[in-house]
Amino acid sequence: MSHAAEAKAQYNLNKLHKRLRRGVGQAIADFNMIEDGDKVMVCLSGGKDSYTLLDILLNLQQSAPIQFSIVAVNLDQKQPGFPADVLPGYLSQIGVDFKIVTEDTYSIVKEKIPEGKTTCSLCSRLRRGILYRTAKELGATKIALGHHRDDMIETMFLNMFYGGKMKSMPAKLISDNGEHIVIRPLAYCREKDIEKYSVARQFPIIPCNLCGSQDGLQRQVVKEMLQDWDKRFPGRIETMFQAMQNIVPSHMIDKNLFDFAGISKDSPLAVEGDMAFDKPDVPKVPVGLLQDDDEPAASVQFVELT
Ligand code: SF4
Repeated sequence: MSHAAEAKAQYNLNKLHKRLRRGVGQAIADFNMIEDGDKVMVCLSGGKDSYTLLDILLNLQQSAPIQFSIVAVNLDQKQPGFPADVLPGYLSQIGVDFKIVTEDTYSIVKEKIPEGKTTCSLCSRLRRGILYRTAKELGATKIALGHHRDDMIETMFLNMFYGGKMKSMPAKLISDNGEHIVIRPLAYCREKDIEKYSVARQFPIIPCNLCGSQDGLQRQVVKEMLQDWDKRFPGRIETMFQAMQNIVPSHMIDKNLFDFAGISKDSPLAVEGDMAFDKPDVPKVPVGLLQDDDEPAASVQFVELT
């Protein structure tokens, strides 16, 4: 690589790093994900997302105005071919506290689930139990997962298309037994940024399909639909993600979220105003395109929607 090309690659990596760092910092602040004195257990699968999460959190730890510690945890589920030495090697090299938990959930899943059926739901239930137990043993106060913005959008569509619910992945949640707080600091980060960052940083990726199972055809279909939209309608993904943060219950039809039955002449005015006789006011330019973004928008064509 020439000197100029090297300098350009370094410049792009810095920009990417800054954007990811800003996204993680913003999510942490918006959802109060990490507090002073926290011990954050970062769940590391060996995929691009969790490597990026760990990397950015370690970096933020250096300059954060609060003190928190990090411990990386990997669960070796004894899937055939899992390269057990890759993560310990990497984690020792970067000098982070870590624990590898070995539990043969693979055999349990194979024994309980008939051949040909999807194994992911039992597998992830077992994994969750083990990770919660590990967090308790380590005294971790937060459990950080590597799901990102695109996982959240996909999940929302999966729930709408198949589950009949408008529901995504929470950026922060409390476990059913009330003992653990789970956070998703990559909530504002784009998968394509994570992908580029992971390649540039040369993380030692462990392929995610070692067990030979798939996380359902539906997720793949939704992923492809979103990728297609992203190509054909720049800004649409960003706009949808903004929409998920900007819900107007009085303009949906969920009777549990808004007291439609109780509306009377004395009710306060609707948040978005009275539009009973209006055509919806749809911006010509997707609002997501107007946000700070390095992606070129010059070739974009817009369709009049109103
Ligand atoms: S893909 Fe394999 S490891 Fe992942 S949840 Fe499914 S069964 Fe478990």
